[in-house]
Amino acid sequence: RKPPSRKGSMADVPKDLLAQIERLEELFSVSKEKLIAISDHFVKELEKGLSKEGGSIPMNPTWCMAFPDGHEEGTFLALDMGGTNLRVCEITLTEEKGEFDIIQSKYKMPEELKTGTAEELWGYIADCLQQFIEYHHEGEDLPQLPLGFTFSYPATQEYINHGILQRWTKGFDIAGVEGQDVVPPFEAALAERGLPIKLTALINDTTGTLIASAYTDTEMKIGAIFGTGCNAAYMENCGSIPKLAHMNLNPDHPMAINCEYGAFDNEHVILPRTPYDVIIDKESPRPGQQAFEKMIAGLYLGELFRLVLLDLHQNPDVEIFQGQDMSKLQRPYCLDASFLSAIEEDPFENLSETSDLFHHKLNLSCTKPELELCRRLAELIGTRAARLSACGIAAICKKKGYTACHVGADGSVFNKYPHFKARGAQALRDIFGWGKEVKKDPIVIMAAEDGSGVGAALIAALTLKRAKEGNL
Ligand code: BGC
Ligand code: MG
Repeated sequence: RKPPSRKGSMADVPKDLLAQIERLEELFSVSKEKLIAISDHFVKELEKGLSKEGGSIPMNPTWCMAFPDGHEEGTFLALDMGGTNLRVCEITLTEEKGEFDIIQSKYKMPEELKTGTAEELWGYIADCLQQFIEYHHEGEDLPQLPLGFTFSYPATQEYINHGILQRWTKGFDIAGVEGQDVVPPFEAALAERGLPIKLTALINDTTGTLIASAYTDTEMKIGAIFGTGCNAAYMENCGSIPKLAHMNLNPDHPMAINCEYGAFDNEHVILPRTPYDVIIDKESPRPGQQAFEKMIAGLYLGELFRLVLLDLHQNPDVEIFQGQDMSKLQRPYCLDASFLSAIEEDPFENLSETSDLFHHKLNLSCTKPELELCRRLAELIGTRAARLSACGIAAICKKKGYTACHVGADGSVFNKYPHFKARGAQALRDIFGWGKEVKKDPIVIMAAEDGSGVGAALIAALTLKRAKEGNL
């Protein structure tokens, strides 16, 4: 049940490095007791977010108010503006229950776009949509296509086809978008290009994941992303959302809540932050925000690793990377989570792959003890991410009283980071106290259906259905 851990040979590691390894173990380990305390506090913060007064977790109502019944039909475009890629899909939900056809194209999100101007951003996205339509529908006379736009940032919504960006996350920093409705400038860019597209629903990736997963598995109660950022969505009853009380919604009616729980503990009362977490926050474009996310999400894992190594190098009591050229390692965000993945995946006793990686990527030749330290550090950072991640899921389950359910998960960390799933599962056992007598974990985090493709299309379909019924 435990993730495999390689038998490192710490015997040859000199005292100064060993002492550092022990210090890092202390800093980055999260005990069972701590996990329980974090998830209990997390439940209160989720509740605060739903209250009139609000808290630091936004708990955004999404106006996605139903699960699909499997009989949704029609052709939809889906656009996913992720942190790394931009994806356009065309999805046809067919008559057959729960079936769909999909075609898709991926475009790179140029790094400069993240800190460029709003006009460049919307222009680029509209250009990709235009390319997609020209490529797949050359010369056709198209009807207006409804679009589900997966915009994976916190947005305030009063209805489903608009959204005011609360704040950029994941390193985005584009002026003039925060506090504004993102739909009008997006639609203006479509109109400029004469594209036959109508934005039907603006959704979060977690909501898409929740809906897409529930489409094929009715035990799915939560949609979660463990990727560049982290977050989850679940279905609440309108009656349990005090901040919507003034709208007199049917109290039993479901409403998907996009938690935006990357903002958990922005007031720094419970998470075990290290000095390295403090630096990440300070140097980020939005200090003080996304405290939880900055400790666990893919965007930050490589950076944490880099900061620790630099700190050790600068420590006069520690001999590491002596006399080497540190210039490459000095570049912020030069390492991403895939670097740590590769280290954790190195199957060789002598860590020869890790050694090659350091050589090629960082121009550093490591001694065997240095490699041992790096391997341990990667394990510590990856394990902490998985264990803390589980607290958000556990908190939603505790809040809703779910004692058994499936959680649909997506994102690069969940899908690609070695042992992430096993470590997360172990953390859930720690939190809920499932011992050996529990043969099968009652709450399981598993791979989700494609939320920003199929999920976005389904939500667009559900929205059109509600509009037709006069329920908007
Ligand atoms: C965003 C969320 C998103 C998550 C995962 C966070 O940074 O604020 O909206 O769901 O990343 O993509
Ligand atoms: Mg994504």
